[in-house]
Amino acid sequence: PDDSPIPLPRRPAHETEAQRRGLLFVISSPSGAGKSTISRKLIEADGQISMSVSATTRPMRPGEVDGRDYHFVDVPEFKRMVADDEFLEWAHVFDHRYGTPRGPVEQMLHDGRDVLFDIDWQGAQQLYQQAAGDVVRVFILPPSMEELDRRLRSRGTDAKEVIDRRMERSVSEIGHWDGYDYVLVNDDVERCFAQVRLILRAERLRRHRQLGLIGFTRKLMRG
Ligand code: 5GP
Repeated sequence: PDDSPIPLPRRPAHETEAQRRGLLFVISSPSGAGKSTISRKLIEADGQISMSVSATTRPMRPGEVDGRDYHFVDVPEFKRMVADDEFLEWAHVFDHRYGTPRGPVEQMLHDGRDVLFDIDWQGAQQLYQQAAGDVVRVFILPPSMEELDRRLRSRGTDAKEVIDRRMERSVSEIGHWDGYDYVLVNDDVERCFAQVRLILRAERLRRHRQLGLIGFTRKLMRG
């Protein structure tokens, strides 16, 4: 069944960390569809991918940690970062600004790691425009709007008006599902997570990311 745990493959002889081109793995979804749970599980389970920590001007929520969940900055600081070209992409989402700092992403890719992004459709689009061949875009849908509404309310961290606006935004976010390479329905978090891991594993095997294959096939052909 596709919900069984996926063992990490042992590295074949032709592949080493440095010989695979790192990928930019984007997961988007309306808030409440389970994206952050899946991102967290992926970071815990997979030793080759690191999370990109965004900067945001939105206030910190209870339980969030500056530098772990986001870099919480004020509007002038965010604007300075934009002016100094410190973002790979940035966008307005729910009245606040969110952006992906460029430096850490470049460092992680340089170190031979993959990078996971929890960003919205605008960010996915901007990343794709800059690095199409290295970007993999996954969109996660809720099983129903009733379920999404229930999940948003049960969090209990936001005021009712905030939740109502998020539901409205969710509808427009879902309208961008066709800008993604993969679309999953999160009716069961373990199943959805297993599917995300399958996607990541298959994408890592794509020919253009296997730089080590060039020399390896040459050697094979020489006999
Ligand atoms: P939240 O405020 O609930 O943490 O995030 C709100 C939305 O902003 C989510 O859909 C999330 O994916 C998106 N987001 C978070 N960081 C970034 C970012 O750096 N860039 C973009 N474009 N969207 C982001």
